Amino acid sequence: MKTDILIIGGGIAGLSAAATLSPHASVTLLEAEDALGYHASGRSAAMFLKDYGNDVVRALNYASAEHHETTDGGMLSQRGMMLVARPDQYDDFKAEHTSFGMQEIGMDEAFNHVPILNANTCAFAAYRHDAHDLDADRLLQTFAANARRAGANILTKSPVTEITKTNGLWHVAAGGQTHITPLLINASGAWVDEIATLAGINPLNFQPYRRSMARIPAPGGHDVNSWPFWMG
Ligand SMILES: Cc1cc2nc3c(=O)[nH]c(=O)nc-3n(C[C@H](O)[C@H](O)[C@H](O)COP(=O)(O)OP(=O)(O)OC[C@H]3O[C@@H](n4cnc5c(N)ncnc54)[C@H](O)[C@@H]3O)c2cc1C
Repeated sequence: MKTDILIIGGGIAGLSAAATLSPHASVTLLEAEDALGYHASGRSAAMFLKDYGNDVVRALNYASAEHHETTDGGMLSQRGMMLVARPDQYDDFKAEHTSFGMQEIGMDEAFNHVPILNANTCAFAAYRHDAHDLDADRLLQTFAANARRAGANILTKSPVTEITKTNGLWHVAAGGQTHITPLLINASGAWVDEIATLAGINPLNFQPYRRSMARIPAPGGHDVNSWPFWMG
């Protein structure tokens, strides 16, 4: 099958690329799993803070902000973010809250935000109001729907197993089919090196790791809806 652009990976990177490119060219997206957003994109804490991450990530965050604020009525809702620290952690606390662009607040204000803080262990707090929940599910579904509407061919259960290049065209084997394209986009998340290696490109030393998240009831039956995202 021939396609102008072939994208490997059905997470937020691959789907946003598919949605943006498919009005301009024929696009095929290959996802190894049964469902889109199966890995990091479907399991994140879905927190949007423009000053999170390294310089490259921050630049992307800033570039994405208007889209998240406005598209389809907006994908963001106000959450706030708080950092707390023990009495012996002030230097690390200050470095971290400075990197996140947070302001130090008094402990009374911190207890107002999160009433279950332990006054014996929490000595410092910092807060930033403009941290948001990102509706990651709606973002993924909207990108997938827009891409399909513009004619993109989105294939799940299609793990890429072989990549060769002949006469300037990539031949990519996945799910029993061979896809032929002049332009290949590697959006395979933590597996970028596996795809790069298949394509004969030097890996950058990325390693997929398992990262876990648990959802538990709030202690004491507290309603946490108005609590900020907080870290210690
Ligand atoms: C627990 C957790 C919490 C997080 N919290 C936040 C947060 O609060 N805020 C924030 O901004 N970010 C957060 N992140 C990070 C964010 O989720 C990721 O940066 C983002 O989802 C990465 O998207 P991606 O499309 O690059 O990768 P992925 O979503 O991993 O997508 C890559 C896709 O490529 C596919 N693939 C791999 N190999 C192949 C192959 N050979 N053939 C076909 N397909 C292949 C995979 O199956 C996968 O679906 C968090 C991440 C985790 C894990």
